[in-house]
Amino acid sequence: MVDSHDMTRTGVLVVNAGSSSLKVKLTPPDHSVLVERLGHGATARSEAGPVPIADVGTQTQAMRFALDHLRARPGYSEPRLVGHRVVHGGTEFRQPTVVDDAVEAAIDGLARLAPLHNPANLEALRAARRLLPDALHVAVFDTAFHAGLPRRAYLYGLPPGYAADGMRRYGFHGTSHEYVTARAATLLGRPLSELRLVSLHLGNGASAAAVVGGVSVDTSMGFTPLEGLLMGTRSGDIDPGLVIHLLRSGTDVDALDRLLNHGSGLKGMSGVSNDMRDVRAAAAVGDDDARAALEVFAYRLRKTIGAYAAAMGGLDGVLFTGGIGENDVATRSEALDGLGFLGVRLDHERNAAGAGIISTDDSAVTVMVIRTDEEALIADDARAVLAGLTRESNA
Ligand code: ADP
Repeated sequence: MVDSHDMTRTGVLVVNAGSSSLKVKLTPPDHSVLVERLGHGATARSEAGPVPIADVGTQTQAMRFALDHLRARPGYSEPRLVGHRVVHGGTEFRQPTVVDDAVEAAIDGLARLAPLHNPANLEALRAARRLLPDALHVAVFDTAFHAGLPRRAYLYGLPPGYAADGMRRYGFHGTSHEYVTARAATLLGRPLSELRLVSLHLGNGASAAAVVGGVSVDTSMGFTPLEGLLMGTRSGDIDPGLVIHLLRSGTDVDALDRLLNHGSGLKGMSGVSNDMRDVRAAAAVGDDDARAALEVFAYRLRKTIGAYAAAMGGLDGVLFTGGIGENDVATRSEALDGLGFLGVRLDHERNAAGAGIISTDDSAVTVMVIRTDEEALIADDARAVLAGLTRESNA
């Protein structure tokens, strides 16, 4: 029987599988292994540095490798809980969910909505269930935080059959938006239930969420992660008429997919790189394409903050997170430029220091930089599921 007083210290293995990578973290003691370039000369590193690895081609092999590595580390004890990040939960999965064969099959079924991500998530999940058969496996979905979007936000302007067939806005980065909005309430010393927040997760992928009382009411990514803000290599919003035009002019579907998902955004616009640091460096020495990319990046953030303030009927806080949101001082000031009319007043010294509250004390809107920690939230979600089961079995 699990002692529920002990729950916050329960070691959780957090599993995050990408299309060609696998990150596994045991927390506590915060030992992690990241395997990248699966099938293309895989590399591995732990939080302490590079780890030798033979070429590993599949998630199953990567999971075995990662677990073997963790088992050899001092302080290891076999986890009773495993938290899995799963990208797409469709409309079915609104909560962290204990994985059984039926849940596995449902995640498999959702692969039609997330053909790059869900199959990788699922393969890692299956491997982990085989390797740790006595642990409780909990799936935490990237879409779940947005599962309560009102229909005015999730419907596209299509006949009803399309949404009934799953073609609607889902939104992603939910775990991150949930984590940073909860942290923001703590930082503000106010209940989350009173707050209207815009959360900006700006990493390689980028998305915004409008969060009222802890509930996501709108978000910029849509049916896929391609919609919305400018990203590292994704175009974000684009007129679908342009897509029709390109298809009619002979661009094939795969080339279009490569263009919009991998050859656009900061990288495509600047011709430099998908990394904000490189684009800034190019702009600083006068590269006009790099400057254009930065202008579009900031302008979309500004428009989205304004739109979400209108959607929420007011604004209490703006949160920056993700590699760019946490580190790029200029992005934060450019995104907020001209938003004084909404009551946003950035403190430039605090912004340059870059942690916690970065608005002035008299700003009506509190601007915050919050380091995201999706693994911590996945671990907490898994512990909460176990605590719930323990309560039920004790009742
Ligand atoms: P992912 O979305 O892949 O998890 P991250 O959230 O780590 O990525 O964000 C990665 C991006 O953050 C990089 O591509 C880079 O553009 C940006 N970034 C990281 N560090 C800095 C920095 N010091 N200054 C500006 N941008 C940074």
